[in-house]
Amino acid sequence: MKVTYPHMGNLYLAANALLEGLGCEVIMPPFCSKKTLSLGTKYAPESACLPLKINLGNYLEAIEKGADTIVMIGGVGPCRIGFYGQTQSDILNDLGKNIKMVVIEPPDVSFKEVWQKIMELKNASWVKVIKGVHLAWEKIYSADRLEKYMEWLRPRAIKQDEAEKIYNEALILLDKTKNIRQVKNIVKNTLHKLEELADYQAENIIKIGIVGEVYTVIEQYANLQLERQLGKLGVEVERSIYLSEWINDHLLSGILPIKSSKKIDQLASPFLNHFIGGHGKQTISHSVDFARRGFDGIIQVGPLTCMPEIVAESILPAINETYGVPIMTIFVDEQSGEAGLNTRLEAFTDMIKYKKDLNFKGCELCQSI
Ligand code: SF4
Repeated sequence: MKVTYPHMGNLYLAANALLEGLGCEVIMPPFCSKKTLSLGTKYAPESACLPLKINLGNYLEAIEKGADTIVMIGGVGPCRIGFYGQTQSDILNDLGKNIKMVVIEPPDVSFKEVWQKIMELKNASWVKVIKGVHLAWEKIYSADRLEKYMEWLRPRAIKQDEAEKIYNEALILLDKTKNIRQVKNIVKNTLHKLEELADYQAENIIKIGIVGEVYTVIEQYANLQLERQLGKLGVEVERSIYLSEWINDHLLSGILPIKSSKKIDQLASPFLNHFIGGHGKQTISHSVDFARRGFDGIIQVGPLTCMPEIVAESILPAINETYGVPIMTIFVDEQSGEAGLNTRLEAFTDMIKYKKDLNFKGCELCQSI
């Protein structure tokens, strides 16, 4: 069995370790690129969500490399996520690809089904499987630590390109290692190198919270390198969700003692009291959380035509009115380009800086009266 999976941020680090632990031969799809997106766009229905198109491109590129089995995570809700597995499988069948599709539904839908799927893939001893699970978790948790540090560092980095290079090298090392002690050493050494690039006196840093549909929040190819672009504009970023938290909430029913979106779920009320599919409700609860924590701005990101994010977008003006926090929405699709995005980001951050400056001058004025 030659198994592949779709990309989503650094998920590949955990997927490789986990599938190898299960005893599968892993065919990692090439990282998302223009080729991936054009392949997906060519064969997916035009109105399909962007993540479906990119995932389809991932599969086709992995099939070219010899993959014969696809593992993907399912989903539920009043949007298209529940149909992803079937739709993608049908498209691949129509293209004459003889592929086995293993869709792992969230355990709160059917734990028995998850267990059956794991047993379908398992081809190693339980000791090896448990080691694989542990290694996968350590890798994804470590990658999140590095990502969070990069989000803080980017607007403060003395040499931004050097910082990106160190971070990317660390990801390559994390992917290669099979040893948990080495994972910890890689993180320690990388953080040490990155710390040397930080300008602790940097001024005019603004803080923006990123909310929205999980795939476009996490996969930097899909959001046109949003975090890097903001870092260049002097913005520190915090996301509503990181991969380790998503895995814990979505696949492990929140059993691990790390930050959970479920804990701030109730902040969506009174703006939104119901689950609307995808991460629509979390977009609202996290926006309230960021606003209450004094963030300078919020950016919502989602795929064009994503129903839960369209509903959330219509509620965000009420949060802006209540808390006075500037909020911008970015919808992305296969036509989106970095130049257009940068113009919008520059305008948004300039407005926030102007607003902050105005408040500051206002205070000075008050003091002089
Ligand atoms: S959450 Fe949005 S992008 Fe994801 S399947 Fe639903 S509609 Fe599509």
